Amino acid sequence: MNSRGPIGNYDLVKKINMEHTISTILKYRPISRAKIAALTGLNKMTVSSCVDLFVQKGLVIELGTTGTSRGRPPTLVDLNENAGICVGIDIEVHQFTVLVTDILGKKLDSMIYPAESKDPQYFVSAISRILQDLEKAHSHRQLGIIGVGVVIPVYYNLQTNVVEYSANLKEWTDFPLLDSLTKHNPNLNIYLNPAPYAGAMGEVHFGRSRSVEHLVYVTSSWGLSVGVYDKGELFTGTAGTAGRLGHSTIHINGKKCSCGNRGCWEMYASIKALYDLLETTPQVLPFANLIDGLRNGDSRIISAVNELGHYQGIGIANVINAYNPRVICIGGLLALLGAPLINSIWKTLHEMIPARFLNNLEIYCSDLGELGVAHGGISMVVRQLPSAIIGYSLLD
Ligand SMILES: [Zn+2]
Repeated sequence: MNSRGPIGNYDLVKKINMEHTISTILKYRPISRAKIAALTGLNKMTVSSCVDLFVQKGLVIELGTTGTSRGRPPTLVDLNENAGICVGIDIEVHQFTVLVTDILGKKLDSMIYPAESKDPQYFVSAISRILQDLEKAHSHRQLGIIGVGVVIPVYYNLQTNVVEYSANLKEWTDFPLLDSLTKHNPNLNIYLNPAPYAGAMGEVHFGRSRSVEHLVYVTSSWGLSVGVYDKGELFTGTAGTAGRLGHSTIHINGKKCSCGNRGCWEMYASIKALYDLLETTPQVLPFANLIDGLRNGDSRIISAVNELGHYQGIGIANVINAYNPRVICIGGLLALLGAPLINSIWKTLHEMIPARFLNNLEIYCSDLGELGVAHGGISMVVRQLPSAIIGYSLLD
């Protein structure tokens, strides 16, 4: 973001003051300048100069007065939600979904594009083109694109900053995805997370579980993985690959998985497994048609979803025993299978786990549907909002 070289102390202090000011506006909006000063501990002159700059840049708007004070009533200021956009991009093996929202995460638009290659460079080029188009389409907004949350169907090593081995996208192994995206889009704030982590964040931010402290997100749009959210934090493990439960063994001599192991959970309970059960492919039977068939009572599809739910239940029993979650949310394309899947999962769980360990447990398919994981991308931006908004551009 910073095209002016290293940031100096003066700029750093100014940036911190602006972040405190915008954080307070976000939390207490609408609010007066005097109240911001009282809440942040910054002096009134500093707050006023920050707010004046925000107003001048179109990020903040002045409303009327409170009308409750004696003398000259204070003017309230509020965030201009339309000053910029957030972008969430959910990359899957066969397609990618782009979600565009206002600054606070309210949906403005969504698009789905087919993935024409598995080459990571292809995804970088395709995403960069989409972002350039969005920048042009939203150039009338003062702050343009505030940030981009990119969600990937692979784990990303937090220590080495490269993609870890992926059974379904072997071409991505060791690829420095964040560096490559940043090089192609040097003026954008870009955040990266694997699908299960982003999905869990999206669910507790925008979904049904906003006040839940212990949530496990089980997602499949082709492979299968798990994100664990515990008291406001994601459990990522040492290098950021915790949750590879799709490759935990549920059949000791089971089907050979592309990861090299046999009998992996994802071979029996993922979207990939559903297509195997139906002996077809997404190219022959697009997922939307599969869902139509399920809703219209196609007995072959109903039977396949029942079997999938049984195997989901076996893996979820392990999840319950390991994490004792309050909520298990089913995400990705799996979420669109709805009640038939959930009913089958519960049937298996009741056969496997004593009832007392299932009390108070809620299992549901995300209401955010196929946009659930993309909402996780938006959540990454919104959580970093003060620093993403301020960037360095407002310092010029
Ligand atoms: Zn495997």
